[in-house]
This record gives sequence, C-alpha cells and structure tokens, in this order.
Amino acid sequence: MTVETLSYAIDDEDRLIRLDEGFYRFAAENGWAGADAGLGRSLWDFVAGHEVTTLQRLLLRRVREGAGEVELPFRCDGPDVTREMSMRIAADRTGRVVLFSATLRDEAERDEPQPLFDPSVPRDDGDFLPMCAWCDRFLVAGEWVEVEQAATQLELFRRRAMPTLDHGICPQCSRQLQAA
Ligand SMILES: [Zn+2]
Repeated sequence: MTVETLSYAIDDEDRLIRLDEGFYRFAAENGWAGADAGLGRSLWDFVAGHEVTTLQRLLLRRVREGAGEVELPFRCDGPDVTREMSMRIAADRTGRVVLFSATLRDEAERDEPQPLFDPSVPRDDGDFLPMCAWCDRFLVAGEWVEVEQAATQLELFRRRAMPTLDHGICPQCSRQLQAA
C-alpha cells in the first residue's frame, strides 16, 4: 500500500484550489506530468474519457445544486497498480467549492505496466446506458434515477470501461413536452 488517502478541492470554475500531501504523492506515483504545479489547473486535465467526463460533470452539478454528499466506489489505477478507492464528494455551504476525499480500499500490482490515458485503450464496455437528454437522468433497472444513484448502483466509476451514454428521453419529460 502506498497512498492511503488524498483530498483536493475545486473552485466554481473546476480549478484545483487545494491539494493535500496525499494528492502530490499520488500524482508522483502515477507520473502525472506537472502535477507539482497542479494548483490552478483544471480538474478535467486529470480526467480521461468522454463518458467519464460527462458523468463526473453531471455529478458535480448535482452536488453543487444541493444533492448533498455523495460517496462512491472509484477506480483509480496507476501505471503499475490497480486501485479501488472510496470517493467522497461534498460541496461547501456556498455550493461553489467542492471537496473530494478518497480512501484507498484495495491495491494490486499489475502483471504488466500500463500507460495511463492511453488513447488505444478501449473506454467503452459495449453496453449502452440510456440517459434522458432533458433531465439528465439515467435508466437503471427500469427506473429513471439521478446520476449519483446511477453511479452508485452501477458502480460506474469503478469500472475499467464505461457504457456508452445513449441519449433519449424519459417518459416524464416526454409527457411534459407533449403537454407544452
Ligand atoms: Zn427526462
């Protein structure tokens, strides 16, 4: 085990404004270039994959809008290890600053080192996740649920690959549009 916990915070423009010791050690282990100059950088510089970015952006919006604190299983691999983490995401009272804190639950060495952010690594798992383009909810087990619930139920951020988001419309929005 290496880094056990790390935390960081972003401002209302998703810029990193607070990084703890764990973040720097974690970044060094993962070989994130220029992470020592991480302050002020966009959170999205450290996120790879279109679906992951979409889901994380939605999740952040929900947390900022007062959905409360979200705790999710999160996969955060390094070049030489696979890592299972537990991530807590919470907004401060103003809703502008969002704090992320992660705890390592499990770490295993890889047989072969794998480059991070390798564009040749497939990022979708061949599945489709229906999403309503109007209310940004997701169809999970027959029910339309908010992103934090979908992410928890499907353990989306724990996966090696993501389902493809399949944009459509939920029955509720469909009815509202027809009534309008
Ligand atoms: Zn909808």
